[in-house]
Order: sequence, then structure tokens, then C-alpha cells
Amino acid sequence: MRHSSPTLATEPERVSISIQEARDLVLSTIETLGPETVGLRDAVGRVLAEEIRADRQIPPADNSAMDGFALRAGDAAEPPTRLRVVEVIAAGARSDRKLGPGEAARILTGAPIPEGADAVVMQEATRVEGDEVHVLEPVTAGDHIRRAGSDVSPGLLVAEPGRVLRPADVGMVSSLGRTQLSVVARPRVAILATGDELVEPDRLEEDGRIVSSNSYGLQAAVIEAGAEPVLLGIARDEPDVIARSFERALHCDLVISTGGVSVGDRDWIKRVLADLGGDMRLWRVRMKPGAPVAFVTLAGRPVFGLPGNPVSTLVTFEQLVRPALLRMMGRREIFRPVERVRLADAYRKPAGRAHYVRVTLERAHGSHDRSRVARVCQDQSSGVLLSMVRADALVFVPEEVTEIEAGSEVPAILIGSSDLCAEPGH
Ligand code: AMP
Ligand code: MG
Repeated sequence: MRHSSPTLATEPERVSISIQEARDLVLSTIETLGPETVGLRDAVGRVLAEEIRADRQIPPADNSAMDGFALRAGDAAEPPTRLRVVEVIAAGARSDRKLGPGEAARILTGAPIPEGADAVVMQEATRVEGDEVHVLEPVTAGDHIRRAGSDVSPGLLVAEPGRVLRPADVGMVSSLGRTQLSVVARPRVAILATGDELVEPDRLEEDGRIVSSNSYGLQAAVIEAGAEPVLLGIARDEPDVIARSFERALHCDLVISTGGVSVGDRDWIKRVLADLGGDMRLWRVRMKPGAPVAFVTLAGRPVFGLPGNPVSTLVTFEQLVRPALLRMMGRREIFRPVERVRLADAYRKPAGRAHYVRVTLERAHGSHDRSRVARVCQDQSSGVLLSMVRADALVFVPEEVTEIEAGSEVPAILIGSSDLCAEPGH
């Protein structure tokens, strides 16, 4: 394969775009994946791809809601009443005996109501003497009976496609006698690191090398988003090597590379993707950290060329890749929640790029103000991963804003939260 010479003049000229435009552009190309079948063990958190309708009633038969005695309410309308205990019905047992007048059956919670009985009196309202039970309180027909079908009746719509399955859903599906269900597939996400300086974490003994922490940070971020990472290792800064890696990545649903996406002599990503026939949809987003970020569609797949600096990598993943993954998984809510917070310190920046400022959040003590206070993490440089470790949130400062006074209310994107919103919120 031939590659154009790595000079600035041959860079694909793209007008830079705002983060909102970039996100809209990315999302406009993303489609929800097809369905797959999973067992109950793997269903939680997945997006349902079928309609779940009850094909039976729950509970299947009238049963007792209490430990007590099944009886005919007419026998015990005016306490005290003495009834003969003629049998014991445990949970899971069946009674073949019809209860006659003046008779009671000892019954345990969940056990079927015997024929002839129309109420249960709870144990605490009785006294047992020999083979007799004294009913001390008045009983009304229907007392403490869970009716067949009172929970779910046949034909009831239990859950609709698009629902994110919670533990109760999984329990309900199993109670309908099902062991499998159809959910939206999880994207397989190829993760490719590029850079001559990079090594795997267990090869750090070689001098002057840097661990490809992006591989593992992204792997974790993909897992946290609910998708399936496929690590493709580290490619050297050689166009043919990078091209082969991208070709290998195409068995996945989405591809992420890191590094080599800027304007340096050995920044090959954009040129390699163009030579492979990729359609460059965007490059350069007016955001910091993370300005050089490429989005290409290659063989029908979304490919993200994220920057190499570890903070830029994770912030661009958060803003562009994560919503795309969640959309592929059929999620309707695809954005992190945003909280209004008070900025403890003033913040200044030039106009032109939106900033995602790493902050810690804390409650203000002794103040009536209920909003949390955001403190800007000390080092905001894009290479300092520790600032991302410390950060609870990213404060969004729009492109045109140049100064925020201390004490101002600002939107903070809660990067540690598993909750999601339908709108980006900033
Ligand atoms: P690049 O965008 O390739 O110029 O990389 C920018 C910076 O990010 C350089 O200091 C790289 O060493 C660093 N970097 C690139 N890729 C990775 C990676 N996979 N893990 C950690 N740091 C990286
Ligand atoms: Mg590099």
C-alpha cells in the first residue's frame, strides 16, 4: 500500500466542529444492533428486544398469604369459634380433601387453599387446643387469600422492547416459565493502541517506554458501558502495520484507536484510514482536552481515532464513543447525568474551545445552599491520568465563555455515575 507523504499540506482539511455537532454527527450514523438470545443469568442490564406477555396466570392457584388456618368464613363470623383441625397443608403441598362445616385446615404461607374454604385466619388470631382451633377474631370471606391470577393474568403485557432489564424483570420472566429471552446484542469493540514508545504493562523494564494505559483504560470504559472489548495490542507507528491492525479490527462492530491522530510526522491514523477507503466524517472537535479526534466510517463500521494523551482519550471516549455504544445497545438514555454545582474557584480560558474541567465534588458544610461545591483538580494537562483518577465530574465550560467567577453555578457531568439521561444536559 502507498501512503501520501506525512506533511501538513496533505492533511485532509476539515473545518473544526463543536462538540454538540460532533456528537450529533456520530450518533446520526449509529444503528441499534440486532437481537440475541441470552439466559436469565445474563439478562440483567440488557435491553429487551421482544415483547414479554404472560401466557399463564400468577399465582397459578388461590393460596394463603399467611401462616394460619383455612376455614369457611361463615363458621367464624362471630368469635370465639371452635373448629376441628382436619389436616395440615404445607407450602408446595396439595389438598384433596374438601373442607366441611365446622372444620379448619392448618395452612402455611403459599400453600393452596383447600376446596370448601373461603378465608384464612392468621395464626396470631387463634389459639390451638388439642385438635381444635379457637378463632378469636371475626373472619370475612376472602381474608388473607392471594387469588389465582391476581399478580399476572394471561395475556398481560409484562415488558416492552427497549426496556432495560432489572432484577424484578428477570424474576418475572422466570416466573412465566421462561429460561431465555431476546435482548439487543452487545457491540464488540476493537481497541488498538498506536505508538513506538508503548509497551504492555508487564514489559516496563525496557528503558524509556510508556505503558499503553489507554488500552486498559478503554477496555474498562467499554466494559463499564456494557459492551465487549477486544484488545488488538499495540501497533508501531508504521502505516502498513496500522493498516493491518485496522483490517483485523473489522470483525468488530466498532473500532477505537488511540494516538497518532494529530499532525506529527508519524501520525498516520487519518491517512491510513483514508487509504483503506474510510470516509472521514470529522476531525478536530473544538474541545479540550481532546481536540484532534477523528471519526471515520470504514466498511460500514464506526471508527474513532482518539488522541493518545490518556485524559484526552477518556474524555473523548466519554463524549463521543460512549453515547454511540449505548445507542448501539438500544439504550434510550445514553448520557451521563449532569448536576448543577458551585465552582469554588474562578476559571479562565480563551474563547474557541469548550473545556471539560476535571473537578472533585463535596458538600458545602454549614451552608443552606444544597448544591455541591466543585474544586478544580490541580493539574489539568491532558497527559496527567491521576487528575482523572481524582475527578468526580467534568465541569462543562462552553466554547464562547472566557471567565467563570468563583461561586458560579455550572453543569458538572457525573462521570462516576451509572445513571443515565436522555439529553446531554449541557
Ligand atoms: P500521540 O497522539 O500519538 O502523539 O500521543 C500523545 C501522547 O499520548 C504521547 O505522550 C504518548 O506517549 C501518549 N500515548 C499515546 N498512546 C498511548 C497509550 N496507548 N497509552 C498511554 N499513553 C499513550
Ligand atoms: Mg504517537
